[in-house]
Amino acid sequence: MNIQQNIQLQPYNSFRTKAIAKLFAQPETVDELQELLQTYANEPKFILGGGFNIFFTQDFNGLVINPAMRGIRTISENTDFVEIEAGAAEDWDNFVAYCVSHRYSGVENLSLIPGTVGAAPIQNIGAYGAEVKDVIVKVIAVEIESGKMVEFSNAECEFEYRNSIFKRTRKHIITHVVFRLSKSFEYKEKYVDLNHELKNITTPNLSQVREAIIRIRTRKLPDYNSLPNAGSFFKNPILTKEEKEKLLTLLPDAPVYNAKEDGYKTSAAYLIEKAGFKGKRKGDVGTYEHHALIIVNYGTESGQEIVNFMHDIQNSVFQQYGVSLEPEVWIF
Ligand SMILES: Cc1cc2nc3c(=O)[nH]c(=O)nc-3n(C[C@H](O)[C@H](O)[C@H](O)COP(=O)(O)OP(=O)(O)OC[C@H]3O[C@@H](n4cnc5c(N)ncnc54)[C@H](O)[C@@H]3O)c2cc1C
Repeated sequence: MNIQQNIQLQPYNSFRTKAIAKLFAQPETVDELQELLQTYANEPKFILGGGFNIFFTQDFNGLVINPAMRGIRTISENTDFVEIEAGAAEDWDNFVAYCVSHRYSGVENLSLIPGTVGAAPIQNIGAYGAEVKDVIVKVIAVEIESGKMVEFSNAECEFEYRNSIFKRTRKHIITHVVFRLSKSFEYKEKYVDLNHELKNITTPNLSQVREAIIRIRTRKLPDYNSLPNAGSFFKNPILTKEEKEKLLTLLPDAPVYNAKEDGYKTSAAYLIEKAGFKGKRKGDVGTYEHHALIIVNYGTESGQEIVNFMHDIQNSVFQQYGVSLEPEVWIF
């Protein structure tokens, strides 16, 4: 396996910030990965997928591992369901396209989310009322410290909203994911935007749902090739009862939903907009004019400039509404 040295990471993150990695490797098999971990046992390690949920603020004096395991294969099926294993390096949206073209349902609402299959469980990617946790049977990974292969059942992944055991502990490298998809499909009217996009079709099929989502996302989200970004920058905050009540006295129209026990979810985009940051630009960083939750890069190569702008938003929202915004994006 080729180990590259002093690699510029700018092309490997969708925010296009600059940072040098001392070492960079792309293991294609579990054996190669285990050998790599053994050889470089003493180097600090960082795992990089497609770089769509991450940006760099500093050089990395260690080994960047970019898993390169490929392949999509059926491992079992019956009349109703199919189980498919996909390699960590498979492009997520190609995987969705593969499932839809085979008429396997379960991931169509996650169409056009940029990134790799291996990163999908990390923050339990979600969109249009669906989360990847609902179709994951198991995650196959290698423990960084010991080099041992480990399998996580769905329950062992401890999935939550934009979170999992992998994100919390950062002790594993995901090499493969096994999904369980349904061979039948019935469109359920759960999401207003999507219902609207499909209003002229009486019984939408899987391909029509995927195409509708691709159309909506293409309209709504900035193209990261021309306007570098990492999608939603902040998580939607979960409030306590007291925080919720305080917010509603300040902003009676704030959207608030029951989340989990004693928790209330509100919209980060709404708060950022109310704090006056929608479409605001400071130097080479700003929020997208059509979507306050997306921070966009107008030309900086410094991750620190993005971090400074992030702090401006966090401070302003906290001072005005008493709500802390936590980044969804991984800042290195
Ligand atoms: C325009 C745009 C729209 C987006 N829309 C959505 C959306 O609708 N819903 C959503 O949930 N997300 C969305 N995202 C965020 C992003 O697409 C997802 O988080 C995606 O899963 C990132 O995949 P990646 O391969 O690029 O991971 P990276 O950004 O490379 O890595 C993300 C994290 O996972 C870790 N990681 C990556 N691969 C592995 C692995 N094999 N093993 C262990 N750790 C690993 C990294 O260390 C890092 O902490 C969007 C991003 C953009 C740019």
